[in-house]
Amino acid sequence: QRAKKNNQNYLFYSSEMNRRSLDRIKLEAELHHALDLNQFELFFQPQIDLPSKKIMGAEALIRWRHPQKGMIPPSSFIPFAEETGLIVAIGSWVLNEAISQIAEWKKSGLKLNRLAINLSALQFKPQLPDELSAILSYHKIPAELVELELTESLLMGNGQSGLLNQLHSSGFSLALDDFGTGYSNLAYLQHYPIDYLKIDQSFVQALPDNLHSAAIVRSIVDIASNLGLKLIAEGVETKAQADYLAQLGCHLIQGYYYYKPMCAADFTQLLIKQQGKESPTLRKPKP
Ligand code: C2E
Ligand code: MG
Ligand code: MG
Ligand code: MG
Repeated sequence: QRAKKNNQNYLFYSSEMNRRSLDRIKLEAELHHALDLNQFELFFQPQIDLPSKKIMGAEALIRWRHPQKGMIPPSSFIPFAEETGLIVAIGSWVLNEAISQIAEWKKSGLKLNRLAINLSALQFKPQLPDELSAILSYHKIPAELVELELTESLLMGNGQSGLLNQLHSSGFSLALDDFGTGYSNLAYLQHYPIDYLKIDQSFVQALPDNLHSAAIVRSIVDIASNLGLKLIAEGVETKAQADYLAQLGCHLIQGYYYYKPMCAADFTQLLIKQQGKESPTLRKPKP
């Protein structure tokens, strides 16, 4: 009886596993194709300064424009791309695309102080500085316009400080993404050349009423001010959240309350509008 039952379970799990690994093989092939067929796209979410509401920077966020499934968010494929190692090729595509976009805005006379690019831990290899400098020099863009977003877990790896110092002294800004969700040991913060802490949206979204989140955010503000780090709050969805953050001294804000991530064309129009430039598409015909 028992053996039979186990056997059935085994069969069940085995076919379930087969189905899953088939799905995974299909997804892996599709992701490969997506790179070849240019199905990835970068969206841009403005980061604004309060109270002026001026755009100080933006974060580049990848999307997968799938011919059948429509727009696929990064949460549906980035973790898988990290498991399979495909993230390295996708990440290189992101670096090229993001920096060539900076160059396009620059050519149009539009100003953007910084564009933040998310890096996966797997991209964080000794060849990264060379790859970045090749892309930058091809587009004639200084490293100062690029902010690299890293996660706390990446800092825990051994031997990363040499690479971080190299990137930082080349001119890149370094930001710690999703800050507060990773390791509780903060001692490493003083050993690394970090410029920005990005307060994780889970804390921001519970503001201002949730006392625990408010306490965590205040602690992060203290850490930043004691260590001389700049702050960016992400996931700001309400005026109350923005007000609370501004009153604590956190002036750099990213969130749906101001802007959602948008395609390159929309972000370009926004820069044109804010900087009082004439839009090429809106230009009046010459008499
Ligand atoms: P992240 O780097 O923490 O990016 C912020 C995420 O929060 C983005 O989701 C953004 O759309 C979302 N967000 C911003 N403001 C709000 C808000 O007010 N409310 C809510 N609910 N969400 C907000 P997205 O674009 O889906 O990206 C998810 C994650 O995927 C990113 O989190 C990042 O970890 C990863 N990712 C995105 N692009 C890349 C990439 O090019 N490379 C790598 N390695 N990872 C990426
Ligand atoms: Mg990020
Ligand atoms: Mg984040
Ligand atoms: Mg996140």
